[in-house]
Order: sequence, then structure tokens, then C-alpha cells
Amino acid sequence: MKFETKCVRAGQAPDPTTGAIIPPIYQTATFVLPEVGRDLGFDYTRSSNPTRQVLEDNLAALESGRHGVCFASGMSAVDAVMKLFQAGDHVVCSDDVYGGVSRHFNQVLSKYGLQFTYVDSTEPQNVADAIRPETKLIWLETPSNPLIKVTDITAVSKIGNDAGIPVGVDSTFATPVFLRPLELGADIVMHSTTKYLSGHNQIIGGAVVVNDEAMYEQLKFVQKTIGAVNSPFDAWLTLLGIKTLHLRMARHHHNGMRIARFLEAHAKVARVSFPGLESHPQHAIAAREMSGYGGMLSFELKGGIAAGKALMNGVQLCQLAESLGSVESMITHPATMTHVDVPAAERQARGLTDGLVRLSVGVEDADDIEADLAQALEGV
Ligand SMILES: *Cc1c(COP(=O)(O)O)cnc(C)c1O
Repeated sequence: MKFETKCVRAGQAPDPTTGAIIPPIYQTATFVLPEVGRDLGFDYTRSSNPTRQVLEDNLAALESGRHGVCFASGMSAVDAVMKLFQAGDHVVCSDDVYGGVSRHFNQVLSKYGLQFTYVDSTEPQNVADAIRPETKLIWLETPSNPLIKVTDITAVSKIGNDAGIPVGVDSTFATPVFLRPLELGADIVMHSTTKYLSGHNQIIGGAVVVNDEAMYEQLKFVQKTIGAVNSPFDAWLTLLGIKTLHLRMARHHHNGMRIARFLEAHAKVARVSFPGLESHPQHAIAAREMSGYGGMLSFELKGGIAAGKALMNGVQLCQLAESLGSVESMITHPATMTHVDVPAAERQARGLTDGLVRLSVGVEDADDIEADLAQALEGV
């Protein structure tokens, strides 16, 4: 099955009892056993559920992996991966990661003895240099949030492989339409399905896909033990979203390129970070590993905090919101919104400057998105 066919069909046979073309929502907590010691494949929805199983099989197929495991959120998917490790273990992590991920690592998991070192993974040597005897995982986010930095997954996977350390990739921004980390040598791929995969701002969800049998068994064990599972209805809504994933992503890519070029040429914009632009520092890596660039970009306004606020308050079509990856265009100002709690000096050091704006370009007509940004930039 080719990729686009997988989006629509993978894991989804007509329901054997009724012929329903869409997988039924098995909204049940428990399953009756026909006799002692024998079930019909399911016993309790925390362990597994037929609707969730369809989504897990579909996502595994999209990522060219063997096993998918779904969770209640992207954060609980990351958490489940970290629960494969124990106190004293060390993780090398990309420095520009989703704010919730670094908060979980620094403020929750560090209390349980896991150790984290953050490096600029766009330079693979930085990852190699941070490896210690107790390093058990390399965790990448690419393209990253909010600076849209790109890491060479092939190069870092080789470093991990040579050292016997698994490499995990938060691939939420790219989606399997444009980037398939397992095909490039990574061991784990993770998604916040809240974003592009479901695609319509309708659910919170997460997923992990792996090839390794033992790792899959451990993740299933964590899933059923902790219980951070998505509901059958949310799994069903996600499946519905994925049926048009390839169509939506093509449009996100088209609109993303168009808006990135518009902003790059604008007098009030100092620079734009979008992997599809030749000016992006890792454009060559992105062009090699990705088949498209999606709709996530960030840009730097010349006027600092005041300019950022003026732009946020001036947009009318783009919506002021912290999420991303949906059909609606959404805009965020990290310095006053997502990263307001990070001390100013640390923000500057990480490149989260006062004039930085993150834009999730939706699938509206690009003319309308561009016109909205143009009118809002006039007031900046
Ligand atoms: C949103 C997001 C997460 C967290 O996912 P939730 O579904 O909000 O829990 C993790 N990583 C990235 C890159 C994200 O965009």
C-alpha cells in the first residue's frame, strides 16, 4: 500500500458483524469473556480497545513501523517513553523542545532521578559529545518548537546506533507525510496527535511507534499500568482526521511556502525560520530528509515586544492561540504567551527573542492569510 492509501485505509477493514465502512466506536470499559481463561482479544479498555487498536495499527503503518501505542495526550506519550528508564539514567535532548516537554523533564522527572542534558542537536557532534556511560536515550525534536530548527536524523541515529543508545524523535511538526524517522534509522517516533494528525482542533492525544518487540511490550505495559489512554471516541475522531492527512499537509506546505516567502520579503520582518526557505540554516538537511515542510514557521519582528503585541492584536483571520497544526491559522508570541515564565536572559540565550512570532499556517486560502498578515504588519 502506498502512503496516501495508508492514510485512508491502513488498519481499517469493514466491521465483520455489520459491514460498517468506518470502524465503530467501541465505547465500552469492559469485555465479557465467553469462558474462563478465554477472551475475544480484549478484556478491559485501559489495556486495549478495538477502536484504539485500529488507530494504533493505522499510525504504525503511516510511520513504516511495526507497533503503535496511543495515549491521552502527546505529553503522556513522552512520559510513557521516559518510564522505560530508571533513576540514574541520562537522556540527551534537543535544546529547542516543546515547552511542556522541558517542563516535564526539569520539574517532574528530574525528581525521580532521571538526568537530562540539552544540546543544540542541529550539530550532531554536540549529541555525541554529551553521551555519558549512563546515557540511555537520545531525544530529538525536529523541526523544533518554536525556532523550527532541523536535526539530521540519519546522522544522529548513526551516533546512537554506534553507542547502543536508542534515538527517539518527536515528529509532531513534520508528520509522517513529510518525515518518517524510523526509515532514517531512529528507534522511536512520537506524535502529539492533537496537532496535524487529528488536524481539526478536536481532540488531545498522543502516540508512539516503534519496531522493537521488547520496547513495544514495555510501552504496552506502561500504557495499561498507568492508564493514560485516549477514549474510543477520541481515537475515532483522530482516525477521521487522518483520512485527509495527506491532502491537508499538501495544502499546509503550499501555504507555508507562500507565507514564508511573503514574510521574508517584508520590511518589518528581520528573519524567517522555515525549513523550505533556502535561507534556513538546515535547509539542505530538510531537503534531504523531508519531502515537504508543512505549515509551521517562526519569524522575528524588528520592533521587539511592542511589535509582537501589536501584531498579535492586529490579526483578524489568524487566531491568537497556543496550539498548532490545525486547519485554522494560529499565531503565538512566545515572549508574552508560551514562554512568559522563562526569565528574559534565558529566553535571549535560547534565541527566544522578544520579537519572535510563531505561526501555524492553516489551510485557508493563502491570499486571505497573507492579506491578514499584511494589514496587521502595517500597525506594527
Ligand atoms: C503539542 C506538542 C506536544 C504535547 O502534546 P499534547 O497533545 O499537547 O500533550 C509535544 N511535542 C510537540 C512538538 C507538540 O507540539
